[in-house]
Amino acid sequence: MTQSEQLFERAVKVIPGGVNSPVRAFGSVGQSPRMIASADGAHMTDEDGITYLDFVGSWGPMILGHNHPAVREAVTKACEQGLSYGAATKREVEMAELICGPVPNLEMVRMVNSGTEAVMSAIRAARGYTGRDKIIKFMGCYHGHSDALLVQAGSGVMTAGIPGSAGVPEGCTQDTLSAIYNDTESVQKLFDTFPDEIAAVIVEPVGANMGVVPPQQGFLQDLRAICTKYGTVLIFDEVITGFRLAFGGAQEYFGVDADLITYGKIIGAGMPVGAYGGKKEIMEQVAPLGPVYQAGTLSGNPVAMAAGLAQLSILKNHPKIYRSLNQMGSWFFGEIKKIAEESQIPATVNTCGSLGSLFFTNETVRNYETAKTSDTAKYTDYFRYMINHGIYLAPAQFEAMFLSAAHTRKELEDVLEFVRDYML
Ligand SMILES: *Cc1c(COP(=O)(O)O)cnc(C)c1O
Repeated sequence: MTQSEQLFERAVKVIPGGVNSPVRAFGSVGQSPRMIASADGAHMTDEDGITYLDFVGSWGPMILGHNHPAVREAVTKACEQGLSYGAATKREVEMAELICGPVPNLEMVRMVNSGTEAVMSAIRAARGYTGRDKIIKFMGCYHGHSDALLVQAGSGVMTAGIPGSAGVPEGCTQDTLSAIYNDTESVQKLFDTFPDEIAAVIVEPVGANMGVVPPQQGFLQDLRAICTKYGTVLIFDEVITGFRLAFGGAQEYFGVDADLITYGKIIGAGMPVGAYGGKKEIMEQVAPLGPVYQAGTLSGNPVAMAAGLAQLSILKNHPKIYRSLNQMGSWFFGEIKKIAEESQIPATVNTCGSLGSLFFTNETVRNYETAKTSDTAKYTDYFRYMINHGIYLAPAQFEAMFLSAAHTRKELEDVLEFVRDYML
């Protein structure tokens, strides 16, 4: 038995499913997880000393690669000054100033500890601001694990093949309406039925939790126009796309304005950080300024802020990183697409910036239903082939591949060779 297997045997006895987040389980690919001991650059090493080229990047945060020296140094220095004070600090001010300027429509921002918290709080702010209860989400989009949003969600919920979650009272989801991604008509119909009741439309501007599903031409613009018309708050959940597609996220990349934006993942550079922010008149509703209550003992934690500040400063000061990451993504996923087209195996490739997915289906994947046509058994087989060759992909079909600035062209060319070997 490997070290990973031995550890997993111990883990399942004391941790549900042996993991602290379902997406880490290798259940859907019929394996037990590799226990990761360390990571550096584009690589991770497990407890058995096996090194992998990593395409998960902690599910997004590691856009500069693992163990970046500037981030590590900032964290080490912050640790020496104490881990938490439960009081206001300079780094929180610097963090807010760093992002409220360069990011469109981000006039005020509040730090929290996860993407889940960010989204949950943004929804509350939107409801408080509008005085309305209903929200629209899209099938296959994942917005964290809070009660109201576990409705036909993506990511681990989709992999598990369940519509929602046990333990969520009907009352918690009765105001959550589901629409179809890339289908403006499905949104308009909900507004026709409830013209004065919808507080917010929340969307992943690039779907990245049903595999990668980019917005079709005009979709985000349509959502903007509808929300403006009905006085509804448009929330871009940029937990994955924020600071990834561009420093200004999907708003900048697609040139569409949101009213509220939620963050996680990259903003903490690997530390547990989330944030929500946007238009001043909405954010002014949040306590202690306004009547929408939201709080957090460890929010804006000094060590977490040090990590995020270090990573975001590099990204902000070197826009070239985005040009080269997005170019690398379009080349790399473009090559996989060519291979998929040549292959006898039903396969389709979606990509946006440094995100991409290989779906085992012949359908064009543009929403939840079409993503669901993927052959997950085939993905399992592909996943096993790749991990046996030292390539660490997400252990589930309905997740993205993440490129980082630490991936080299040579490494990606080697990966393409393995993809070719498998597909052709
Ligand atoms: C990961 C994710 C979340 C939840 O973030 P956590 O930090 O896991 O709570 C929310 N929205 C999107 C789009 C995500 O990808």
